[in-house]
Amino acid sequence: MDTRQLVGIGMTSQRTRNRLLQRLRDSGIKNERVLAIIGSTPRHLFVEEALAHRAYEDTALPIGYGQTISQPYTVARMTEILLGDNERLDKVLEIGTGCGYQAAVLSQLVEQVYTVERIEPLYQKARARLRKLGMHNVDANLSDGGWGLASNGPYQGILVAAAPEVIPPSLLEQLADGGRMVLPLGGETQKLTLVVRQGDEFVTETLEDALFVPFLSGIQH
Ligand code: SAH
Repeated sequence: MDTRQLVGIGMTSQRTRNRLLQRLRDSGIKNERVLAIIGSTPRHLFVEEALAHRAYEDTALPIGYGQTISQPYTVARMTEILLGDNERLDKVLEIGTGCGYQAAVLSQLVEQVYTVERIEPLYQKARARLRKLGMHNVDANLSDGGWGLASNGPYQGILVAAAPEVIPPSLLEQLADGGRMVLPLGGETQKLTLVVRQGDEFVTETLEDALFVPFLSGIQH
């Protein structure tokens, strides 16, 4: 029998998790709380078993339906930007649940996470997975995130994990005063963008290059 199977993923992954954290630090991630959470969140449980051995590489991986689990660097960077100087946030909306990994990271820094996915099987799987992991402060929803989630807004933070060409107006409306929205903006070339709401003004800052799946409309069953 393969000794790795005997030792189990727990021990084998400690070294690989530390290597991942080092890589994220080298790539410029500074928020130590975010790093600690990435280090302790079991990413291998968010991908198919056949890909679990690659779960702690700093790379995006397929999750089916043409979608991917985001690269750990991207999750760390967006989380760090969303938090800004805040230790914790009260209410955050995520658009694009995918496998639920980003939501799981957020759930450890936010009182209540609302997440929205438009592909029904991904939504079903992510919801079941988050429940099983005991992440009860994540509310998963099947919906077109272009509408946001008005019933629970406004949100102190909005994180968009798919790239629209323009910011959906509903998301701007649902951002609380002083709230922060992080999203990739654009088509073939995308830029990670931070929007901070100050009253009726939306102060926008263009950050680094990004590479996300497109933001699509409608629900896919
Ligand atoms: N947050 C995920 C990343 C998923 S990839 C992670 O932790 O890895 C982006 C997801 O956004 C895909 O699952 C895609 O189906 C979803 N998506 C794209 N456009 C959307 C929309 N308008 N509303 C909701 N989800 C959307």
